[in-house]
Amino acid sequence: MARKNEGCAVGIDLGTTYSCVAVWQEQQGRVEIIHNDQGNNITPSFVAFNDKQRLIGDAAKNQAATNPENTVFDAKRLIGRKYSDPIVQKDKRLWPFKVIPGDGDKPMIVVNYKGQQKYLSAEEISSMVLSKMREIAETFQGKPVRNAVVTVPAHFNDSQRKATVDAGTIAGLNVMRIINEPTAAAIAYGFDKGIRSVGERNLLVFDLGGGTFDVSILTVKDKVFQVKVTAGNTHLGGEDIDNRMVEYFMEEIKRKYRVDINGNPRALRRLRTACERAKRTLSSTLTTNIEIDALFQGIDFCSSITRAKFDEINMRLFQECLETVDNCLNDAKMDKTSVHDIVLVGGSSRIPKVQQLLQDFFNGKDLCKSIHPDEAVAYGAAVQAASLCEDIQNIPDLVLLDVTPLSLGTYTTGDIMGVMIPRNTRIPVKKTEVYATVYDNQTCASVKVYEGERTKASNNNLLGLFSITFPPAPRGSPVLVCFVIDENGTLSVSAEDQTTGNKNQISITNSRERLSAEEMSRMIEEAKIYEAEDRKFLRKAKAMNSLHDYVYKMTNALKDKYTRSKLSLQQRLNISTAITKVTCLLDDDNHQVDVDVFEDYLKELESLFDQIFSIND
Ligand code: AMP
Repeated sequence: MARKNEGCAVGIDLGTTYSCVAVWQEQQGRVEIIHNDQGNNITPSFVAFNDKQRLIGDAAKNQAATNPENTVFDAKRLIGRKYSDPIVQKDKRLWPFKVIPGDGDKPMIVVNYKGQQKYLSAEEISSMVLSKMREIAETFQGKPVRNAVVTVPAHFNDSQRKATVDAGTIAGLNVMRIINEPTAAAIAYGFDKGIRSVGERNLLVFDLGGGTFDVSILTVKDKVFQVKVTAGNTHLGGEDIDNRMVEYFMEEIKRKYRVDINGNPRALRRLRTACERAKRTLSSTLTTNIEIDALFQGIDFCSSITRAKFDEINMRLFQECLETVDNCLNDAKMDKTSVHDIVLVGGSSRIPKVQQLLQDFFNGKDLCKSIHPDEAVAYGAAVQAASLCEDIQNIPDLVLLDVTPLSLGTYTTGDIMGVMIPRNTRIPVKKTEVYATVYDNQTCASVKVYEGERTKASNNNLLGLFSITFPPAPRGSPVLVCFVIDENGTLSVSAEDQTTGNKNQISITNSRERLSAEEMSRMIEEAKIYEAEDRKFLRKAKAMNSLHDYVYKMTNALKDKYTRSKLSLQQRLNISTAITKVTCLLDDDNHQVDVDVFEDYLKELESLFDQIFSIND
């Protein structure tokens, strides 16, 4: 495997609800899951804005109930999608933040930051989460981190993968590779079992996270991880389960109190948080309570839910998961009994009913729970990142053989999808096809590139459109169309007029919903500005804290009788004037005061006290 990346490299699991970062520790020969500033191994994929600062991760999630309109989450559900996508339209109704259509039908998130309206794309929000993960890794490593392997759901399409790479670039990362989450989890499993002693095994990775669901079947032998098939749903996960619970309790509130909390973002946010907590509790207990003081119009909401009720309201979702497992086995032409290990990944795979249904489906086979469902994906990504780095020696060269999740093809006469690369084809791959012009003296042919499984091309997802021109020629002139999918699963398409040899190297990398080069540079610049502002805010908060501390210390010192007795009246007056001045400055809610003012005051106070005390000593 070519190793061309220098310096430190990390693996990042960019999740819908939580993200995780890990690094290969060369000396210890193992992966370290890196904890954040709160000591947690997973960081909420939340970004919040207020009139003073931007917050990312735990800090953003913790203030969500008081600032719901400006607390953004679920960016992964928007990434690479169009505003008019029915999924976006459905999600939008449950989000407390505003999403509007932007240029080229791109969804734009509207927030208020420092008193100004800002319009942000999903890539920008994801880039902020990625930059937080980079910062966590840099604190741990004590040096800059530039290279990363970022994971995506196996079912992510071309636009979603490219948008994820863009998010990494905006965050200042070199995204060495995009790998599929189940594949990363399989690597973690392989390492957990001791990579060489696994033998040849068929693995089914069941990955039910916060927003997406993937099932992949792989064969693992020595260092070779070969994905056979993958299937999934980019819109099924813990958040859908939370939504069902929110709807259930909203109905109960309507029944009990005759009020509808829909339309009140703060109440909805608080109910959602309580539901998520209750859901987690129900994974280990049979019943749990929900208590929310002053939820809406003075109502103190108090209720309970049993695990049986929880299972009942979510049964349709759970069954959907099993249908996907069944489809995946059919695609792989495999029988249940030939699956050696069923690996559980993703926080929602902890739900007892999900585990029970899966175990029953596999006729009571034990499920593999030895790898950590929240950390396995970042773990595998870190191993892959290390294996792509120049300087790291003692890591096995992994061979990852992945597949494309969706069929790719072109529009052909009669709106028929001309499949060029069927789904579950091993990547990287290059396929060419010769198309013939349809009428005499035709001078132009347009190529419409689609992805999806429907026979009618227009029922699939249009990825891009381009045309190739050529001199007039009789009908049937050959045009060669070439599809290339790289290791990241991203596609580029080119066409060539075979009669004249005119090559029209056209890729769909700049499809409409993708960011243009100018937009990217603007966002990279803005990301730097955000980071600088965050740093400035932190510096100011630290300076204010130090000043507070100092004033507190000095006030206490002055209370001491002995100290006071050594000071003249004038000195005491000078000190208390200085303290009053600083206290007023700190109490004044004037955010315009520059950080230098606080730092200068601290120095001034320190020198005043030093002088007085050194004279009196
Ligand atoms: P992931 O995307 O893998 O980080 O999964 C996050 C999702 O897992 C969120 O929707 C969490 O609410 C859910 N989750 C985490 N722990 C549990 C648990 N013990 N029981 C049920 N769901 C959980």
